Amino acid sequence: CGIVGYIGFNQAADFLLDGMAKLEYRGYDSAGIAVIGANNVIKIQKKVGRLANLEAIVKQDPNEGVVGIGHTRWATHGRPSDMNSHPHADENMKFAVVHNGIIENYMPLKEELLQKGYHFKSETDTEVIAHLLADMYDGNFEGTVRRMLDRVDGAYALEIICADEPDKIICTKKENPLVIGLGKGENFVASDIPAIINYTRDTYILSDGEIAIVTKDSVSVSDRAGNPINKKVFHVIWNA
Ligand code: GLU
Repeated sequence: CGIVGYIGFNQAADFLLDGMAKLEYRGYDSAGIAVIGANNVIKIQKKVGRLANLEAIVKQDPNEGVVGIGHTRWATHGRPSDMNSHPHADENMKFAVVHNGIIENYMPLKEELLQKGYHFKSETDTEVIAHLLADMYDGNFEGTVRRMLDRVDGAYALEIICADEPDKIICTKKENPLVIGLGKGENFVASDIPAIINYTRDTYILSDGEIAIVTKDSVSVSDRAGNPINKKVFHVIWNA
């Protein structure tokens, strides 16, 4: 269970796969990535089992683009399978989501979304987030994520991308760790420092309830009410 993210000028998949390998110590049963490619199309590749299985797929069919998110899963809701692997997306592939943790009220949310006609592809708690975002979307990515968060209970580290606003990754956390690595013209997201230490030593350690808007040139952090938070840079001096 780990998450990674990249936005910048290099191929996102390269960092994502490398960062996920560095997070292997956290344990996992499947892995996947979502990258925003040409024409702002989100492409998801995911596979049960070893990271090598995913790497083989990506090698055969490169997932090109400079913005992406990745996930190593430790299944809590739904068996380990390709379909239950993350990232998860809505039916129109507008949003892709990776999630560590548990959405405790996913059952009533799923029932509500099923009644509205949304089709679920997986047995996970996480997939409700993708359909909720699609259902609540008003053309504003950040605002929609904020309203979605008001509806979910539980523990999470979350990263979300949106095909309509391909210049950013939105992340937030509650009771699961999330770190942002600060680069030059590129930024990184990960569950833990070992994933990013070869790329940057300047980090923001997110606290519960903080929402980070990560672009290639900036990271702005605010609280759930939208008040800006002046994060202190945590400089990592040890070696991973
Ligand atoms: N609850 C989610 C699932 O089972 C996320 C598990 C995780 O933290 O990797 O898919």
